[in-house]
Amino acid sequence: MTLKNSTDQTSVRVRFAPSPTGFLHIGGVRAALFNWLYARKHQGQFILRIEDTDLERSEDRFTQDIQASMKWLGLNWDEEPLFQSQRLEIYRQRAEELIATGHAYRCYCTEAEVEKMREIAMKEGKKPQYDRRCRDRKDHPVGQPHVIRAKIPLDGSVEFMDLIRGSIRFENTDIDDFVLIRSNGAPTYNLSVVVDDVHSKMTHILRGDDHINNTPKQMHLYQFFKYPVPQFAHLPMILGADKKKLSKRHGAVSANAYRAEGYLPAALLNFLARLGWSHGDQEVFTIDEMIQFFSFDHVQKSSAVFNTEKLLWLNGEHVRKASPERLVKIVIDDYSDLFGSLALRRASSPLGVQIAALIQPKVKLMKELADQMVPLCTPGAIEVDPSGLKWNKDAALKAATQAAVKHALKIFEQRVVDALDKAQTTELRSDLDHEAWGSAPSLSQVGMDHADVDALLRQVSEQHGIKLGDLAQPMRLVITGRLVSAGLFELLAILPWDIVSARLSKVEHL
Ligand code: GLU
Ligand code: ZN
Repeated sequence: MTLKNSTDQTSVRVRFAPSPTGFLHIGGVRAALFNWLYARKHQGQFILRIEDTDLERSEDRFTQDIQASMKWLGLNWDEEPLFQSQRLEIYRQRAEELIATGHAYRCYCTEAEVEKMREIAMKEGKKPQYDRRCRDRKDHPVGQPHVIRAKIPLDGSVEFMDLIRGSIRFENTDIDDFVLIRSNGAPTYNLSVVVDDVHSKMTHILRGDDHINNTPKQMHLYQFFKYPVPQFAHLPMILGADKKKLSKRHGAVSANAYRAEGYLPAALLNFLARLGWSHGDQEVFTIDEMIQFFSFDHVQKSSAVFNTEKLLWLNGEHVRKASPERLVKIVIDDYSDLFGSLALRRASSPLGVQIAALIQPKVKLMKELADQMVPLCTPGAIEVDPSGLKWNKDAALKAATQAAVKHALKIFEQRVVDALDKAQTTELRSDLDHEAWGSAPSLSQVGMDHADVDALLRQVSEQHGIKLGDLAQPMRLVITGRLVSAGLFELLAILPWDIVSARLSKVEHL
């Protein structure tokens, strides 16, 4: 007889079942994502199960990291997470039930004896298996150490329709009477997985293809427990650029390392979804689009190569898609330690959002956004490195540019002073009360927008016989701390005048 998996489509219930023996890694995130997408697409339930039965290798900090990383990614789970370490007694009871129903038996052979049996089987050209000698044993020596083994049928086969790989078949003679409970009472992976999948009423098992060989064993157990065998989908492996299994050698592999480097959850998920899955030739997906379009029909069987450059590109795409408000929130959540306390206040103000909106088109990583926001939110002048300025090779250009900046500064200042004199009660005053704006208005608040700033600087540069670009270069450096930055004219228009004047005054002394 051939045991097959069930095809009735009841309401979808899937799980992500990591072992907390390390930080949540990229392969785990992808398994979690595909389960999550499938559940969300079918209005099903997505369960988190912590497989912490290996008490020596499992650590609480890794359990914390898995949950924190999943929250960061927005892979929210339904129901209370299941912890296998709290269910050890249940696995033992379920194994005893299998003995009672004739699907399992106690085996008193020692490790050394079993090892011998395997060697003999190999010598005879067979698979290294336990020789089943305790299968029908009638005597049960009291108090003697033993394991509990599954009683796999001696003929027939197991076949399942993998949603990614198609039909996969195993002969029962190739399946060992594998251990369910070890001699120390601990359950094996195959037992605890199935007990919990039955307990949580799983309909689909989506996991890495390193578990394909466990599937026939687990299918027998589902049947022993009289539970309809779920659907399976085994995801292809993720490889590094050198086509070897992705590992720490390839650089960052944990989700939190990507967070620290400045990747956005949406970009990382988009990237991982595209590792092995496609929807036409679309590359950039929002989370909602991924949910809408996801299906196993378009998951490839072959392993997928992790392309760091593509991830970086995608992150830039998602940075551009995000609202500046959201970007600022992430900067404050993840990079607050880069800012001084006043700078942090400014970053969280409407000014911070305006600054972020200007930088947003120019960066790929959130870390870059934070790095560029820091000097722009910091009060007063900042340290700069003038060694890259063009005027270093041209003393006359330097003199002319310094004079031009001084001139422009004077005109700007007059505009601010005039506006403050004119402002009696009014809007401008109340704007100034906003502590994050510092003590002075911006040029745009006194009626000069970036186009006006542009026009004025053009005019000043002509008057001083220099190019606009030559005038702008040292201004950009003192304002932003960088030679390449977000739009200078926009920044001059929106930054509080106290910052602009303190910084432009430094040009004279460079
Ligand atoms: N704890 C197993 C793993 O991390 C779960 C495998 C499964 O999903 O059945 O590989
Ligand atoms: Zn035995």
